[in-house]
Amino acid sequence: MQPRNSPYQSRARANFTRNRTQTTRNRSQLKHADIARFINKSVVTETVEAFVPQHRFSDFPIEQRLKDAIIRKGYTEPTPIQDRTIAHILRKADVVGIANTGTGKTAAFLIPLINKILVQQRERVLIIVPTRELAVQIAEELNGFARHLNVRGTVCVGGTGIGRQIQELRARPHFVIGTPGRLKDLLERKVLNLSEFRTAVLDEADRMLDMGFIKDMRRILSLLPTPRHTLFFSATISLEIKKLVGEFLTNPIEISVKTGDTAASVEQDIVRIPPGQTKLDVLQKLLTQPEFNKVLIFGRTKHGVEKLSKILISQGFRAESIHGNKLQGRRQKALDSFKRAQVQILVATDVAARGLDIDSVSHVINYDLPASHEDYIHRIGRTGRAGKRGKALTFIEHM
Ligand code: ADP
Ligand code: MG
Repeated sequence: MQPRNSPYQSRARANFTRNRTQTTRNRSQLKHADIARFINKSVVTETVEAFVPQHRFSDFPIEQRLKDAIIRKGYTEPTPIQDRTIAHILRKADVVGIANTGTGKTAAFLIPLINKILVQQRERVLIIVPTRELAVQIAEELNGFARHLNVRGTVCVGGTGIGRQIQELRARPHFVIGTPGRLKDLLERKVLNLSEFRTAVLDEADRMLDMGFIKDMRRILSLLPTPRHTLFFSATISLEIKKLVGEFLTNPIEISVKTGDTAASVEQDIVRIPPGQTKLDVLQKLLTQPEFNKVLIFGRTKHGVEKLSKILISQGFRAESIHGNKLQGRRQKALDSFKRAQVQILVATDVAARGLDIDSVSHVINYDLPASHEDYIHRIGRTGRAGKRGKALTFIEHM
């Protein structure tokens, strides 16, 4: 079933204002059926049916030094999506990989692609992602594997000096990990030559193909030589996006190891705001409870997010904020201090909803409702990751 607020409209950058009004109208019509989708208390408390991988990392036909790097990183066995996709990527098949949030999709494409480079040093890989912080995170994961393997990657994202990126590109790194806007800029300046890249990954593929980015994707991918090895990964691929898969991938294998819509490790509930109280009142009460020790709060607008974080700080909470109105350096710093648990709270727009891997987030709170069910899935997927459990609460007003 399609979500009531089609994400492909509400996310279009060009139509932002018009769609925002529409989203607001839809939001006020929220029905009980929608609210029911924010509740899931039947969280798996123990592993009911243990996943038995078909492979071990040692079985994959990959270089021994890469196997050693995987062990050094502390990965003992493949996660389901890694188990099912790595062999296909190794034989150079186009793959659409769909798996719940926090289940290791990054390594599912990094491991076979690093191996590709170890086997053939001239290979180069382009990874396109929707947000700057996600690009940085993937580069860190790459370094975690490739540090001792002489495989190099560069991050090309907006909001930071382009000069250094141009310099780094001159050294022809094997992996270029970027966001669409900056990649386009580098292409226009002719400092990025995509004719050398035979492999492309779209992480958070559905987000990359929704209306705001699709033209950029067509343009960028058209500059890679054919045949091209193309991989799509996400926790959500809607029917609309599935229709586009054939345009970008050749004879793709679709591998879905989803256990349900949302990760089973996230306990979900709604919080009704009682008459006479505000969302802020309710939030404050929650945040003083000891178990709310690492809380990611989602708000709808940049302004609202900044305001909420300031209020929380003025009330003595240790909080940071992340949104598009902030300088990139400060955005990354806010995220890092939350990652390192130097602050209890990160207040964020949906810029933090996709892909970010933050260890042990205790709670995700939807202070403002997400614009679509996909956004909901990705937001709450910041908790309950890598085998841990988490809780998601969605605030509901006046119903
Ligand atoms: P996804 O992209 O599916 O949301 P990530 O790739 O961000 O998930 O991985 C989530 C977390 O799981 C990361 O902290 C990552 O280091 C960890 N992880 C990935 N693969 C394994 C593995 N095979 N064994 C143990 N931990 C893993
Ligand atoms: Mg991911």
